[in-house]
Amino acid sequence: MNSPGAGRFAPSPSGELHLGNLRTAMLAWLFARSTGRTFLLRIEDLDRARAGAEDAQLAELAAVGLTWDGTPVRQSERIPSYEAAVGSLREADLLYECFCTRRDIAEAATAPHGLPGSYPGTCRNLAPSERPQQARPPALRLRSGASTWTISDQLHGEYTGPVDDFVVVRSDGVPAYNLAVVVDDDAQGVDQVVRGDDLLSSAPRQAYLATLLGITPPRYAHVPLALNRQGQRLAKRDGAVTLESLADHGWSGDRVRDLILRSAGLPPGTLAGALEAFHPERVPREAWTVEPGNLS
Ligand code: GLU
Repeated sequence: MNSPGAGRFAPSPSGELHLGNLRTAMLAWLFARSTGRTFLLRIEDLDRARAGAEDAQLAELAAVGLTWDGTPVRQSERIPSYEAAVGSLREADLLYECFCTRRDIAEAATAPHGLPGSYPGTCRNLAPSERPQQARPPALRLRSGASTWTISDQLHGEYTGPVDDFVVVRSDGVPAYNLAVVVDDDAQGVDQVVRGDDLLSSAPRQAYLATLLGITPPRYAHVPLALNRQGQRLAKRDGAVTLESLADHGWSGDRVRDLILRSAGLPPGTLAGALEAFHPERVPREAWTVEPGNLS
């Protein structure tokens, strides 16, 4: 009965993983393994997939010692599952067509009381006669019954964030990330989501959508990101921050693993040793500032 549950890492195959991505993956592995969970991979290739990136990312994860259970799941192969979820939302009258452009939304959102970044509801109650004449294909939005939702996060505690009528199917017909992530975590038995804290503000939308689909939301742990010296999110352009570029400076995968473990306050050497020393409550709450100049 007591199934162990699963944790996961879900990279978008848009290029090489950098130190920040690898650190998030390592923390997700540590959270999962330290709680007896399996650890799964999911390739989020609905959007920014670049040829060869998936294989490269799997090799990078392996090079720092990470192991995972089973075969990675690819979102591009799971379209029927997203369609089924869309079908059930549609049946419950929880979707509507939206013809707004980005610009429409940006302009409307500056109206008084508009919550920055939230959809103002322009198309929510469009009568058929009000549909744009030469309509471009519509996106499908959730007819949300909540304006906020509260999630439980191991590092952030009870976190309440806005829920708006967010997009579940994009105007190009591709399922939106917020839908796919909920459907996939459920299908993979993921009950622990560990990822970068740039996604903390998306979690209430996802947890709310999960409950609409009859899914119990996972437990979350949003971990601090890696930043560059300017305090911005680390990116490949910041210098030698990928395994490949660090290798050019003589860095082995083991040395990168140790750098990341130390950054998380864990003993270097092996992931097994780090696992013994790992306590979720001791994960640093501050972002990790990476100074590539000091790495080479
Ligand atoms: N694919 C997303 C990313 O690489 C992560 C999504 C998630 O962990 O929920 O940023």
